[in-house]
Amino acid sequence: MKRKTEILHSAASRDKSTGALSIPIYPASTYHQADIDTEPQWEYGRSANPTRSEAEKLLASLEGCKHGFAFSSGMAAIAAAITAVLKAGDHIVATQDIYGGSYRYLTKYISAFGVTHTFVDMTNPDNVLKAIQKNTRLILMETPSNPLLRVTDIRAVVAIAKQHGIVTALDNTFMTPYLQRVLDLGVDISIHSATKFLGGHSDLIAGAVMTADKRLANEVKFVQNACGSVLSPNDSWMLIRGIKTLSARMDVQCANAMKLAQWLITRDWVSEVYYPGLPTHPGHDNIKSQASGFGAVVSVKLDSVGRAIAIMKKVRLWSVAVSLGGVESILSYPRKMSHAAIPPEERHALGITDDIVRLSVGLEDVEDLIDDLSNAAAY
Ligand SMILES: *Cc1c(COP(=O)(O)O)cnc(C)c1O
Repeated sequence: MKRKTEILHSAASRDKSTGALSIPIYPASTYHQADIDTEPQWEYGRSANPTRSEAEKLLASLEGCKHGFAFSSGMAAIAAAITAVLKAGDHIVATQDIYGGSYRYLTKYISAFGVTHTFVDMTNPDNVLKAIQKNTRLILMETPSNPLLRVTDIRAVVAIAKQHGIVTALDNTFMTPYLQRVLDLGVDISIHSATKFLGGHSDLIAGAVMTADKRLANEVKFVQNACGSVLSPNDSWMLIRGIKTLSARMDVQCANAMKLAQWLITRDWVSEVYYPGLPTHPGHDNIKSQASGFGAVVSVKLDSVGRAIAIMKKVRLWSVAVSLGGVESILSYPRKMSHAAIPPEERHALGITDDIVRLSVGLEDVEDLIDDLSNAAAY
């Protein structure tokens, strides 16, 4: 099956017992065990739930693997993937301009449990090699990165990790497996905030972990059950419903993002456009070799902080909000939102200055999105 067909027909497409085209929501917390001598398939809602299980099969099929796990948020998924691999005394090498919540998790949370980290600029794989220590157990990638859309050569980092027997994980939230199948590129664990493009409608908080490795899958399953940050049956149904339209949404949103980026580079109030679909973007060739699209997130450096603030105050169509990946366009301010957890000096050193806004491009007519930004920028 081709990718678009597979999303709709390989998992969670029909309810086996009735043929219903929508998977039922099973709210039950517990199950009658008719035969106490045999191991029950369904026992307790945290350990496994039929609706969640269908969502998990769908997540696995998206990344082209056997094992998928649905969590109550993207952060719960990241935490589960990290703690499935690491123990006290271990070290992580992570992308430097990682999602702000992952930054907080590594620097303020897991560090208290004796796990150390080094952030590196992964646009150059040599930096990963240099950062590896005796106790490095995990390389955590995020590409394209947030909010500057820096691109990591996934195959090159995987090759380095394999030589050193290190597990690789990749936060694939921005691309989704529809555009970037990271397990096919050799990554061990794919992580998603399903709150974003997978859910797709700004009405769900969810996370996902996928892996083809049975041993890692067992560890993730253990953490999911032991820590309990599972996706609820209702939200599992919402996630399945959202994923059904993933390909159509991504196709239109990526096309809109490209048109918007091409328009933005011609504006005199824009000093830089970060979009890997532009041939001038330093990661353009890399992303073309490892993904089938460029995503729907465009970041823009304006000619002043004042311009950024003015745009946020004047836009009417764009929502000024945290998050991305919904059907409606969202403009975010990394400084106050996704990257507020990073101290200002560090944030600026990463290139995330106060004149940068991030655009998650939705399904609207791109002409309207352009008109709205154009009006807002004329202050
Ligand atoms: C939003 C986001 C997360 C966190 O996901 P939540 O669902 O908000 O917990 C992690 N990584 C990336 C890249 C994100 O955009």
